[in-house]
Amino acid sequence: MSEEAAEKMATRPGDDIMSSSPLRCDEAVHELYHFLDGELTDEKRAQITMHLDQCRPCDAAAHFEAELRRVIADRCSDRVPPSLIERVAAAINEAERHDD
Ligand SMILES: [Zn+2]
Repeated sequence: MSEEAAEKMATRPGDDIMSSSPLRCDEAVHELYHFLDGELTDEKRAQITMHLDQCRPCDAAAHFEAELRRVIADRCSDRVPPSLIERVAAAINEAERHDD
């Protein structure tokens, strides 16, 4: 490593320690949303997975969040019956016709 690079790292010593150590809980929870959305790099994903393996509260939070999303996704597709979609479409057609 060059002297210049070593000096750059020395200006923010915390970063070097953090990148090689497990995530803290607040970091893990913050990243959890991105994790569930699939927006993370493989490296981040691995860090979070590792944290969740070792940390019960965060693991529970992750399961809760994932379950919540599943329920919401289920409800959203179930909740709107085809008959309602037809009625909404008819109402929109009606409204458009009045515009003419
Ligand atoms: Zn944690």
